[in-house]
Amino acid sequence: MNNINPKCENGQQHPFVNAENKYFLCCWLAAHRDLKNLEEFFADPNWLNKIDLTNYSLEEVETYYQKVRLSWNSQNCLSTCKEYCSNINSNDARKILI
Ligand code: SF4
Repeated sequence: MNNINPKCENGQQHPFVNAENKYFLCCWLAAHRDLKNLEEFFADPNWLNKIDLTNYSLEEVETYYQKVRLSWNSQNCLSTCKEYCSNINSNDARKILI
């Protein structure tokens, strides 16, 4: 469907922890624009708290991120993942949409 080849799963990207101890599956998720995408995706007023390693264990935060992983093969795929880790490049994607 989205043809996601997740770089965070194949060693091309690594988890990122920002200065506020928030954990991200990759540094792209933490960029300002993509942070907004993630906020909208989780649709959870406590999402920033739930990715905070000060409050939760790594295992708990990883479990919270399951929603992102499950999105890869769904219609609700996180847009950042589509943009950075889709095997369909933008030209191909446009052809498919036409
Ligand atoms: S953009 Fe998404 S799929 Fe790609 S490395 Fe980051 S979290 Fe993983």
